[in-house]
Amino acid sequence: MIACETRDAWTQFLEYAKKRCSASAFGNWLMPIQLLEATRESITLEVPNIFVKDYLLTHYKAELCSFLPVDATGEPAIQFIMAAPKKKMSPPAPASSDAEPERSISAFQVSLNPNYRFDTFIEGPSNQFVKSAAFGVATRPGLSYNPLFIHGGVGLGKTHTLHSIGHHVMETHKKLRVQCITTEAFINDLVDHLRNKSIDKMKRFYRSDIDVLLVDDIQFLQNRLNFEEEFCNMFETLINQNKQIIITSDKPPAQLKLSERMIARMEWGLVAHLGVPELETRVAILQHKAELRGLTIPPKVAFYIAEHIYNNVRQLEGVVNRLSAQCRLLDLKITEEVVEKNLREMLQHSPLQKITVEQIIQSVATIFQVRVSDLKGSGRTKEIALPRQVAMYLALKLIKESLQTLGSYFGRTHSTLLHACKNIEKRLVEDEKLRRQINMVERNIGA
Ligand code: ADP
Ligand code: MG
Repeated sequence: MIACETRDAWTQFLEYAKKRCSASAFGNWLMPIQLLEATRESITLEVPNIFVKDYLLTHYKAELCSFLPVDATGEPAIQFIMAAPKKKMSPPAPASSDAEPERSISAFQVSLNPNYRFDTFIEGPSNQFVKSAAFGVATRPGLSYNPLFIHGGVGLGKTHTLHSIGHHVMETHKKLRVQCITTEAFINDLVDHLRNKSIDKMKRFYRSDIDVLLVDDIQFLQNRLNFEEEFCNMFETLINQNKQIIITSDKPPAQLKLSERMIARMEWGLVAHLGVPELETRVAILQHKAELRGLTIPPKVAFYIAEHIYNNVRQLEGVVNRLSAQCRLLDLKITEEVVEKNLREMLQHSPLQKITVEQIIQSVATIFQVRVSDLKGSGRTKEIALPRQVAMYLALKLIKESLQTLGSYFGRTHSTLLHACKNIEKRLVEDEKLRRQINMVERNIGA
């Protein structure tokens, strides 16, 4: 590659990236990069700060390798130079500067979803604890658990709970300033202020102009070292002033790939788990969502749906939306047949994902009502032995890995796996109930 080709390659890379990210991400992260020098072997880029360098390498390493020269170890051959800070000292807080328009500090604030309120949140044993902790915090911000850390799987109501807290505080404590952000937005906000040299202003805002901070999806802070530190500092400042923080995450603190300091801070207050709702709760949620759309679902049909879709409330809502549209357009009555057809199509259309042993174990545990830890353990009672064999049978059937590898997931030899498989196949011939149960597991993991 000759030098000017390298220069062109950089331009082509930028064009490529521009088509693949949002305009604001492009403006925030890639536009500020200056190409300083291009040779046959390498390229020198000037970046405004370390975050931009991190971003480029985290998000585009593979692409950079294919567009630009690579070094002997196969890494993109890029020298990074940090832009020198402006000679002029940044002016003290521009109290009356009318030259520059006031930047909106809360440009990245998330507005609260008007439907996500405590009174639209259906309670059941799986979410009661979270709901009452959330309500407690919303009623006495900064005075009960701080921070409140809510974790749980996708589509189980974390954001719904977070926004409910926001609404409640704003309605009952009118003077308190509530800020709701997603972690992604916080990072973007930080970068934006760095780029505009207004980082101090942002820090001031996050540290002194907020009474209740709602942070959604903290898992996005993982592997973002520099941002993590900034977040942690802000977090400590707020907590030390008794400002309330509520955080949601897809995993408990200890399972997040974050620094020990950050994990310890998040465990300071109350860690609450949002579980998968039980059948009755799922039916109640379904009926509630249907009611909102003016749809009546007969109880038998509601149970049928809730039996099939069990680990994601968002998916339950999807069914209601789909049924509501269909029944209105085609003037259909909601019967089990209509639902059956819809479910089949919905589950077929869900994006094909690689099935994992973990997913199989989870689904088997739910359908057979045993604990995941029992399935992985060594207990030999009949109640556990059968579902465990089903999980092994499905792993063998659905996952293309060697017998040894699959066996190791269960802590069993490959001959145990084969034995389990044969046993289940034999039983399937005459056991209608088992056939149905296995069918349900398969459907739910999208097999
Ligand atoms: P998460 O943030 O955990 O991925 P969301 O809060 O976005 O999930 O919830 C997904 C959808 O499911 C939302 O529309 C929400 O209103 C609904 N939902 C989840 N749990 C409940 C519940 N217990 N009662 C009513 N709606 C719920
Ligand atoms: Mg969410």
